[in-house]
Amino acid sequence: MNKEKILKLREQVKLKYPFKEEQHNAIWQHFGKNPETYKRFGLAGHNGLDFVVPEGTPIKAICDGEAVGVKNTKHGYGLYVRQFTELILLDNEKVKLDIVYGHNEKNLVKVGDKIKAGQTIALAGNTGFSSGSHLHLGIRLVSGYNNKILEYNNGYFGYFDFYPLFEHPNTYSNYFYWKKSNFEIPDWEILPVDKRYGFERTWKTYLKEKAIAFNPWLIEKIKRLPTNQEINGLVYGYHTFENIFKDKIDIWWKYYHYPEYKRRLEKKLGL
Ligand SMILES: [Zn+2]
Repeated sequence: MNKEKILKLREQVKLKYPFKEEQHNAIWQHFGKNPETYKRFGLAGHNGLDFVVPEGTPIKAICDGEAVGVKNTKHGYGLYVRQFTELILLDNEKVKLDIVYGHNEKNLVKVGDKIKAGQTIALAGNTGFSSGSHLHLGIRLVSGYNNKILEYNNGYFGYFDFYPLFEHPNTYSNYFYWKKSNFEIPDWEILPVDKRYGFERTWKTYLKEKAIAFNPWLIEKIKRLPTNQEINGLVYGYHTFENIFKDKIDIWWKYYHYPEYKRRLEKKLGL
């Protein structure tokens, strides 16, 4: 699945996040990672996205469709839900998304059930090839005529990196992932730590970055490690913790280009 095809697909498909807003940073293993681990399954690397969430966390359907499979398999997914979407026209071909939600503790749908985006279809767990509670989400394309898996020999049994199909992918992103995926998102979102609004990185600023990254007060406040761009803003952007991590500002931070973010922040602060 090349980038051009993904972008065409994105025009028709916008996936919802499978968990609540505050669990945006749950993605622990991206597509294609850890080839050594997945070699034993005949895979070129991890063939989906892993979301680390506590056991029993409700998993919400990422789009509309129908449940077509819900049992334990030998494939390592443990208790899983397999969902097909409605037909999608892609390059004059009718296709469907074939979605798997794996390692569940409990399934809440049965084969033949219609599924609505946002509906809770399972509870997250640790069944199958899994060493801790998480959701494995995988997507491939099947033919709309006979459900034949497309691009089966792509090294991932047809699964592809569907991350750009999320409605707001940059909200869930991390810099390293985007750098690799080459998908278009606001430039300042993907600023590497060495491009800091025109400032040189000195030993002093490096120590400041480190102090911010592991500041216990901050981690407690945002319930996660700060992102690279947040650290950049704090060290080089002259704003205080309190201003940057006010709920609304945090949202601006994620959605807007840097100049727009700065404009809003300055307005808010009356600068
Ligand atoms: Zn996985």
